[in-house]
Amino acid sequence: MRQPAGPGQWRNWAGTAAATPARWAQPRTEAEISAAVKDAAAAGLQVRALGSGHSFTPAAATAGLALDLSLWTGITAADTQTGLVTVRSGTTLRALNAAAAEFGLALANLGDIDAQTIAGALSTGTHGTGARLGGLATQVEALDLVLADGSLVTCSASDRPELFAAARVGLGALGVVTAVTLRCVPSFTLTADERPMPVEQVIEQFDSLAAANDHFEFYWFPYGRQALVKRNNRLVPGGSAPPARMRAWRRVWEFEVMENAAFGTLCRLGRAAPRLIPALNRLSSAALSARSYTDASYRVFVTPRRVHFVESEYAVPRESLAGVLAELRRAVPGLAEPVMFPVEVRVAAPDDIWLSTAYGRDTAYVAIHQYTGLPYRAYFDLFESVVAGVAGRPHWGKMHSLDAARLGPLYPRFDDFRRVRAQVDPEDRFGNPYLSRVFGPAG
Ligand SMILES: Cc1cc2nc3c(=O)[nH]c(=O)nc-3n(C[C@H](O)[C@H](O)[C@H](O)COP(=O)(O)OP(=O)(O)OC[C@H]3O[C@@H](n4cnc5c(N)ncnc54)[C@H](O)[C@@H]3O)c2cc1C
Repeated sequence: MRQPAGPGQWRNWAGTAAATPARWAQPRTEAEISAAVKDAAAAGLQVRALGSGHSFTPAAATAGLALDLSLWTGITAADTQTGLVTVRSGTTLRALNAAAAEFGLALANLGDIDAQTIAGALSTGTHGTGARLGGLATQVEALDLVLADGSLVTCSASDRPELFAAARVGLGALGVVTAVTLRCVPSFTLTADERPMPVEQVIEQFDSLAAANDHFEFYWFPYGRQALVKRNNRLVPGGSAPPARMRAWRRVWEFEVMENAAFGTLCRLGRAAPRLIPALNRLSSAALSARSYTDASYRVFVTPRRVHFVESEYAVPRESLAGVLAELRRAVPGLAEPVMFPVEVRVAAPDDIWLSTAYGRDTAYVAIHQYTGLPYRAYFDLFESVVAGVAGRPHWGKMHSLDAARLGPLYPRFDDFRRVRAQVDPEDRFGNPYLSRVFGPAG
């Protein structure tokens, strides 16, 4: 689950962040987490909880104590009546989905992959897509945290509500999340419909597509004309006959061979001969094909991602999406270094979580990627200059260059977050250079 880089070293999935922690701990109980935090404080070390290392930013990097929570896993309570499920913070989404399914429960919405830990995913504002749904943090009912003084506290909408509003998307800046109580929904089946459509048409019909589908997203290759539109909808009992579940061999063909092995080969070819990238891109675009199938929700939301890449993603006000995409499409062909990976667009409903990228506004997410090892700086800078014009908010776990001075005006409750942080962690026990950049000093 972790990304070992060498003895005593840590590095993230994308290879964009690395660190050599002075100390490691692998706690198995809350008492051990608390003791590790107190011992680090006595030694003057900062503390970072590690998730699965799937953030592209150095959010989890530390030169102090690295708290590896991979032995702190599992569901501790599940109530099939209320849907409330309490899970230890080091549990991966994959394990959580499987365990919740045994109780007939599921998360209402998920992102693209399930390798993240629940606490890591929450801490950076991980989201999926759905115009009427929020990100993972909106499904949280309560959090347990070990604070800088080693005390264990619980927070919820009624118990320490400010800590709750801050810590649901808290980048680990407020304490170590030890347990998360989620409001799950009864297990459900999704019907997936994926088909190519001209990009212009998708952008024109964006609002109606977002409104008509439970989970709508699309992606396109920057030099191609076709987008792949993905519509995932809850299966309605008694409705028209759904498409069949995908057979095991076809899953391997579609997801492993076509989307990973074959695409990985094209990417390697593009990296070896970058001048071929626009043509390879058009080839990938032309190869997009329709498919529809039905499966358990979490098996439809999530797909394997074996081809490594770097990514930046911004949340923009829904109404500004068409302008952002038009500018991006106009400018990308002029880049000296071509782009191998697609652009992905998703949606979310507004929420009230202080540092949620969807705070207070109907949101469209625009994610750009580049194959690992290919130059990406000019592309990502170009993207940032486009989204800056519409008050875009960067995903906390994906690459961006913003600092506290630029982030503050984007979040109405930014100063409240900093106030709560200063109250619960005046000595910056949970700080690291990334947090100093995005929030400024702790005290
Ligand atoms: C292939 C890929 C696909 C992705 N798909 C999506 C997607 O669909 N949607 C989306 O929104 N994002 C997506 N992401 C981004 C990813 O969900 C986030 O970066 C997420 O934070 C990663 O979780 P993690 O467990 O790896 O956490 P890490 O990256 O290890 O840590 C993230 C942050 O959480 C903190 N943290 C971890 N555990 C705790 C804890 N117990 N208490 C307090 N703080 C803690 C860390 O210190 C760090 O600050 C994707 C990333 C990759 C590489």
